[in-house]
Amino acid sequence: MGIRERLTEIRASLPDGVELVAVSKFHPAEVVREAYDAGQRMFGESRVQELTAKQPLLPSDIEWHFIGTLQTNKVRHIAPFISLIHSVDSLKLLREINLQAARCGRRIDVLLEVHIAEEATKYGFSVEEIRAIFAYSVLDAFPNVRVRGLMGMATFTDDVTQVRREFASLKQLYDTFSDRHLDILSMGMSDDYPLAIAEGSTMVRIGTRIFGNRT
Ligand SMILES: *Cc1c(COP(=O)(O)O)cnc(C)c1O
Repeated sequence: MGIRERLTEIRASLPDGVELVAVSKFHPAEVVREAYDAGQRMFGESRVQELTAKQPLLPSDIEWHFIGTLQTNKVRHIAPFISLIHSVDSLKLLREINLQAARCGRRIDVLLEVHIAEEATKYGFSVEEIRAIFAYSVLDAFPNVRVRGLMGMATFTDDVTQVRREFASLKQLYDTFSDRHLDILSMGMSDDYPLAIAEGSTMVRIGTRIFGNRT
């Protein structure tokens, strides 16, 4: 099965209201182009250098999403064109995105990454930090950033019950901010997206299942 067929199959399996970010990291521009020609417009990348190399080679109506760890000193490279940053995990980063967005005369959409995995290795704000950010109107200090929602990654495990529990906890947190007009809950990757959707995901980030293994 080729990229087109895999995309079609995945898209057909997504309920209405769930968007697909095709994670193209480590795959060259020609491969992204194949997915583009099959109708895909949202792509996710996790390294700034790779993204800024690929972006000029591809059509300008692509919506580029940044999904990886973002260093503050690299924000300026993607600020002019990035559509959504999923992986905001500190106020320092939020401040820098706000600054660079202002310099570009734009408002940048972001998601706050929440640490939901029971394992200790994943990045993100704690649930308590997220609550504090909303409770104390911390976001008012960043007028050039628009927080659209939350992002989380479950533990890498075969334990379906645990993965479900972690996604459910993020959904529950997301729902407590229903008065904040959030509209994106980014959760679910190649191996766990059906579980994420069952627990309320509105945006899945899928790489391997579309493009095959990364080398
Ligand atoms: C690489 C990556 C993905 C996609 O992973 P697959 O297992 O290949 O679908 C999704 N989200 C983030 C944050 C990633 O870094």
